[in-house]
Amino acid sequence: MHCPNCRGKNLGKIGVQLYYCWTCYIELSIEKGKLNMNQIEPDGSLSPLNDLFPEEERTISEDRLLS
Ligand SMILES: [Zn+2]
Repeated sequence: MHCPNCRGKNLGKIGVQLYYCWTCYIELSIEKGKLNMNQIEPDGSLSPLNDLFPEEERTISEDRLLS
């Protein structure tokens, strides 16, 4: 699995189906086979990034999760 934003693999698992990209500082959560992306603002609030990515880029298959 890689980050859809920076294409990097510098992802840390921070919870159940919850990942964090250390390169671009976004939080990735997986819900019903789709990635939800949020940017973490300096004040700790979340800005949704989902609109920036087409749906097919946010769709994730189980085997990609395991790799
Ligand atoms: Zn990234």
